[in-house]
Amino acid sequence: MEEIIFQSGFLLCGFNVFSGRNHSDFANFKKTHKFFINMKTKLSLLTLALVSHFSMADVQYRLSITEPEHHLGNVDVTFPKSAQAHIDVQLPDWRTGRYEILNMANGIRFFNANDGQGNALKWHKIDKNTWRVHFEKPTEVTVSYQVYANELGMRSRHIDDSHAFIDASGFFMFSDSFRQEPVRVDLNVPKQWRSVSGMAFAESKHSFKADNYDILLDSPIETGINELHKFSVDGRDYELVIWGEGNYDVDLMLRDLKKLVKTGSLIWHDYPYDRYVFMVHATSGARGATEHLNSTIIQRHRDRFASRSDYIGFISTAAHEFIHTWNVKNYRPSGLVPYDYVDINYSDLLWLVEGSTSYLEDYLLLSAGITTNREFYNSLTRTVNRHMKTPGREVQSVAHTSFDKWINQGGDHGKNYSTNIYLEGALVSMALDIDLIDKSGGKVSYRDVHTELYKQHKLPKSFDAADVKRILKEISGRDYSNWWDNYVDGPAILDFDALFEKVGLEYVYPMGTKEIARLDGAAKSVGELLELTHVARDGNAWKAGLTAGDKIVAVNKHQVRKDLAATLSLFEAGDVVTIDFIRRHKLMSLELKLAKGYNSNKVIRAVQAPSERQAKLYKAWTGVSHPNAKN
Ligand SMILES: [Zn+2]
Repeated sequence: MEEIIFQSGFLLCGFNVFSGRNHSDFANFKKTHKFFINMKTKLSLLTLALVSHFSMADVQYRLSITEPEHHLGNVDVTFPKSAQAHIDVQLPDWRTGRYEILNMANGIRFFNANDGQGNALKWHKIDKNTWRVHFEKPTEVTVSYQVYANELGMRSRHIDDSHAFIDASGFFMFSDSFRQEPVRVDLNVPKQWRSVSGMAFAESKHSFKADNYDILLDSPIETGINELHKFSVDGRDYELVIWGEGNYDVDLMLRDLKKLVKTGSLIWHDYPYDRYVFMVHATSGARGATEHLNSTIIQRHRDRFASRSDYIGFISTAAHEFIHTWNVKNYRPSGLVPYDYVDINYSDLLWLVEGSTSYLEDYLLLSAGITTNREFYNSLTRTVNRHMKTPGREVQSVAHTSFDKWINQGGDHGKNYSTNIYLEGALVSMALDIDLIDKSGGKVSYRDVHTELYKQHKLPKSFDAADVKRILKEISGRDYSNWWDNYVDGPAILDFDALFEKVGLEYVYPMGTKEIARLDGAAKSVGELLELTHVARDGNAWKAGLTAGDKIVAVNKHQVRKDLAATLSLFEAGDVVTIDFIRRHKLMSLELKLAKGYNSNKVIRAVQAPSERQAKLYKAWTGVSHPNAKN
């Protein structure tokens, strides 16, 4: 019972009882108000709390954009009357969907606090993103500050003279004491701007309301000069809002988004929203996307919408974010429930959050008829080939890379010693899917795991690895513990030939592929020189002593220009050559045995004559017929 009272955030006799994870304020509160934890009064307090809750005032946020060209906004937040000795107000240290500490409090200036009568209150910072405001008698508290919002690519906060993208985590401070209370947001923006959000409008076209801070934080606002398209599918409302001018084809986008949003029924059989907003930034210098409660923000270069491959990039991203509406926004691993906005949220299942989402996006696109079989194989080929060129696949499990996502780094070391929740997460999901389909003769698939996660572990519940293993057993009748040890908790060494053979595909070099000599790594041009950006761990170049950052000058005393492949085409695999290179301003030299490579990458394609079983499993796997099936 104590737990219920403390977590519900009810107002008790004008005192707010604390909610959420940070109970440091609560300890303080307990000292001065011991009667709250007196067992005898508990029941009557709860009754009172239920009555009083409805009289609680909203937390009110006001954002005024008066100097958009300087990326500045002014925020006021008014918290309802509180009788504590102080309240702590905090700006999140990360934003949902990006598992990385972002230090967003670095953009705050001119912080001040006032009571309900406008009198200044004392405050001081107690850590990098927490301001403690002191007062002596019960009062409303308004804090004001300036925000510098110039992080477009982070999809956290951006203001310029044409728009603002407002992820509340980058703008709006919260107090744990009021996290569960209703919120209202009012924007003061240039007259011709239009505001759109997954949140419901309040009284004006630039004001929104939400049931609590968590919803506000997961419902970004796009406001500015934009184009807006609305459509309905199966009784639910959708909006596509685009900021920026690009080479996109809105009719095509709308046609495919309508097909895409129907696919939710293929896996989850139920929709967690009545209204959903696709926000698009057609811009430059920012690329990526983020999922939210009933909206997504997708950023692409303004010129990267028109070609078929660019367009598939866009619609695949839309599919990915749409899947997240269920996978992470409606069921998510225990380390992320509830979100802790000021600390790292550890989970060994981020591979299932991200990788499985990446994996399932191709299924949705193919079964909806948005992409073709061939486009599906191309996407799969890219994923598998990237994985095969990642030596880190032999080092790090998807469980470990999930847990360490917050500190993971890419680059040369990352490629050699790490895996990726998206890439390897997708392939582990695929391996599990094909295993389930194969062992059940096509009756059970990995999609059923997600159907059950949504059914059994909807928020505010959560799930952990044991729950996923239990669900696997429930749906397949088989124990997946050993499989999990091998492919999730240990580095997943996948046999792609065996996997693809089951569903009537093959992973082969295309006809005419030739053997070539290669230096196993990657390089980029820097001025006149060719700098190694990656040297594959334990490859010939690595063993000979080359490392990322070395600048290749010559092979066998002949200068290397931009095209290393052209230079190496004069040699054969196994030839020993002299490499001259610059390392830290010093000319050096070493001998290297050239590795064996091929002038084409392997491709995934359909087998010419699938067996009846292959054709059946292919259909169960993809939702469409095998292209070479007899009937
Ligand atoms: Zn994602």
